[in-house]
Amino acid sequence: MASYIPVTLQQQVREDAGRRCGYCLGSEMVTGIPLEIEHLIPESAGGPTARENLWLACHRCKMNNDYVVEARRFWVFAGWHPPLE
Ligand SMILES: [Zn+2]
Repeated sequence: MASYIPVTLQQQVREDAGRRCGYCLGSEMVTGIPLEIEHLIPESAGGPTARENLWLACHRCKMNNDYVVEARRFWVFAGWHPPLE
């Protein structure tokens, strides 16, 4: 079970990501589907519930563990952020 993420921390992550999916850049406003916060390093692997380990993802990307999403997950973790316009 995922641990609780404080609302203020969730808001920070959403602001950082520009309210878009960090992988496909789908906007919450466009899709109408709320984006979910995920751990870059899974909690099961010891990833902390901290701003630098949290990222915004749409449901599709969150459930999709193909190589594209995995690569972007690595880039984000390495300090690369997708361009926001
Ligand atoms: Zn997505």
